Amino acid sequence: MSRSQIPGSDVLGPRALEAATACGVDVAALAGDARHDSPVNGATLGPIGWVAPADVDTAVERARAAFLEWRRVPAPARGAVVKRFGELLTEHKADLAALVSLEVGKITSEAAGEVQEMIDICDFALGLSRQLYGRTSVSERPGHRLMETWHPLGVVGVISAFNFPVAVWSWNTAIALVCGDTVVWKPSEQAPLCARAAAALLDRALAEQGAPAYVSQVVVGGPDVGEALVDHPGVALVSATGSTRMGRAVGPRVANRFGRSLLELGGNNAAIVAPSADLDLALRGIVFAAAGTAGQRCTTMRRVIAHRSVADELTKRLAEAYVRLPIGNPMAEGTLVGPLVHGKAYDVMAAAIEQASAEGGTVVAGGERVLADAAPDAYYVQPTIMTMPGQTDIVRTETFAPLLYLVTYDDFDEAIALNNDVPQGLSSSLFTRDQAEAELYVSAEGSDCGIVNVNIGTSGAEIGGAFGGEKETGGGRESGSDAWRSYMRRATNTINYSGELPLAQGVDFSV
Ligand code: NAD
Repeated sequence: MSRSQIPGSDVLGPRALEAATACGVDVAALAGDARHDSPVNGATLGPIGWVAPADVDTAVERARAAFLEWRRVPAPARGAVVKRFGELLTEHKADLAALVSLEVGKITSEAAGEVQEMIDICDFALGLSRQLYGRTSVSERPGHRLMETWHPLGVVGVISAFNFPVAVWSWNTAIALVCGDTVVWKPSEQAPLCARAAAALLDRALAEQGAPAYVSQVVVGGPDVGEALVDHPGVALVSATGSTRMGRAVGPRVANRFGRSLLELGGNNAAIVAPSADLDLALRGIVFAAAGTAGQRCTTMRRVIAHRSVADELTKRLAEAYVRLPIGNPMAEGTLVGPLVHGKAYDVMAAAIEQASAEGGTVVAGGERVLADAAPDAYYVQPTIMTMPGQTDIVRTETFAPLLYLVTYDDFDEAIALNNDVPQGLSSSLFTRDQAEAELYVSAEGSDCGIVNVNIGTSGAEIGGAFGGEKETGGGRESGSDAWRSYMRRATNTINYSGELPLAQGVDFSV
């Protein structure tokens, strides 16, 4: 199949159902006729089986009951479930990746990479299941000991975005499960089949290991189903990934009922290219981060801040590289840029190009829709580069598409100021061979983002690090490092073995 040959629904629909069935989804049991279009060709993929917001109640009650049992299972035994889940993901990697491509349009290697990330987090969580450490500390009172113990929170509600339709859930779920929580997942309405497939694999792992029923559940539906999860008092933690608009709605609602939230929201990620940068390296890093996943990663590079001395050369070489990018059927070999997720995403990109032009920008590469004859209901676009006179309003806005803005700087402090002068704070990078610049960039006076890279692009994080960002990105941290603490509650324990009752701070309350 060539890149410009966009497969028809007679191919995609059966492939989707076959892949879902192979992962254990009972597709015959799925009902409902909600729209569910593949970005690959715009055609409806198959049945979905949406739930109503009221069904969230039942799911949370079941999850709550399951939690009471699950928390008693020793953490390493919970880790064994996650280990088995990782094995099943490995076995079904191709099927799950195919569903990711079909439902959200990722090219095959990136879709497989998404599943690999799920496998990686299972490995991480398995190790973590034996490392949920608490501290001990010395007491000011004789015969006393202070220690911290960590306990599971309860039910974790996971809301996920279309662009990482299964990996983000698995980051949350693998960690939440070893911590002793149960999970109710509201996946993106764009990706119900891959959600059901991933959940079916986990169900199998849970059943094989004798876990209680309803430790993991998926509630497929629209934002109203997400809202029901957000408002449910039985949900201890809402981990929500998506747009800043969504986070602005979710955060206050969860806070209002004193629940916890973990927000992973939009980004507006920049790379600074310094005069000393290795331009070959920068070029490769920028093209992958800006055009990869058709610009639809939260960590997609949206801004390049280039030193005036290298800006022309960099722009020229980037424009040449962009022209060579193979755009088309994401499941065809050699494609590097697949479709936008839907027509609305295309409209938003077209409007952003128009606004950027009005704000003084110039398109230097791309900007056009392609393959419209082969796929009139799908939206393939040329990744686009625009030079801008500065960080105008549109440059400071996240446009979820392959649209890269180039601005210039003269001194490094100015570059850092530009890097930080956006409402979002997810990812950032610097290309330089100047060690002092690199150190300054990762220091407190440098980038204000949650992810700060040197000589590597803004996207493609590994699961071992804590993932997330500041400001309008929401402040949450998921995945590796000590992100597990968000899924647990901490108790401080004082144990008195002295036989006396001395009070802290020397207080005397003798009776
Ligand atoms: P979206 O905000 O439209 O939807 C995300 C999820 O939230 C969906 O499941 C949706 O049904 C649900 N939702 C929407 N409104 C809701 C509400 N009021 N209450 C409860 N749930 C609600 O985002 P999208 O278009 O699917 O994804 C793209 C966005 O996600 C981009 O802004 C991207 O940067 C962001 N994103 C961030 C990260 C991160 O880790 N920071 C990762 C992936 C995507």
